[in-house]
Amino acid sequence: MASIVVVFDFDKTIIDCDSDNWVVDELGATDLFNELLPTMPWNTLMDTMMKELRSRGRTIEDIAECLKRAPLHPRIISAIKAAHALGCELNIVSDANTFFIETILEHHALRGYFSEIHTNPSFIDEEGTLRILPYHEKFITHPHGCSDLCAPNMCKEGKKRFIYLGDGKGDFCPSSKLGEGDFDMPRKNFPVWDLICNNLMLINAQVHGWSDGEELENILLHLIDTIIYEERNTNNPEALNLTDCKYQITHPMLTRTSSSLVA
Ligand SMILES: [Mg+2]
Repeated sequence: MASIVVVFDFDKTIIDCDSDNWVVDELGATDLFNELLPTMPWNTLMDTMMKELRSRGRTIEDIAECLKRAPLHPRIISAIKAAHALGCELNIVSDANTFFIETILEHHALRGYFSEIHTNPSFIDEEGTLRILPYHEKFITHPHGCSDLCAPNMCKEGKKRFIYLGDGKGDFCPSSKLGEGDFDMPRKNFPVWDLICNNLMLINAQVHGWSDGEELENILLHLIDTIIYEERNTNNPEALNLTDCKYQITHPMLTRTSSSLVA
């Protein structure tokens, strides 16, 4: 059983865009999207946009082809594969939807690396329209009471160590639920980064910011190495060699007192 669980947000974390906006923009429906945005919740809007695209003659295949062009940094692909090879459990928590996420992951042959994907359910109706439903049902009784999409598996009891990666406002809540032995990887200069910088007293995990796919891979694999090293020594204290510094975190730090925030 994996003792390290890596939880990824999807939009602007695994892929380098927002998949909802990507599809709407690529298929030429941005104006209607912007017009309707103030009038309804995001998920209802996306469901409405999918119906609109279908009425304009766009097919599921058109949407899938569009999703396959969404930017995904090659170092994030290698990071996912390496983290999996090191024995980590990989999960996704996202406010996108199952069709968007699975289409992109399958296109890059990454679906099999993820154990759990928590996102809005979607299905293709009899008209060939992609329908997107809100994912609130499972979260109404969520133990930590989040109203937004959040990571239910992060509430599991046990000795698991979590690494959480995200960029948006919605990633602040799961970040604040991490424990002292966990690591938070917010994307630098994105909304979650500002929230964390302004609310450090609410964050227990060690924070390591990243900017792009290369930095994400370097930091993520370094943190996994760090945890593996710590756990090996916890299980076998005699193996601890204080002169072995190769697993020390070497990234320049933007510190609060306990060096828990790394820029
Ligand atoms: Mg995101």
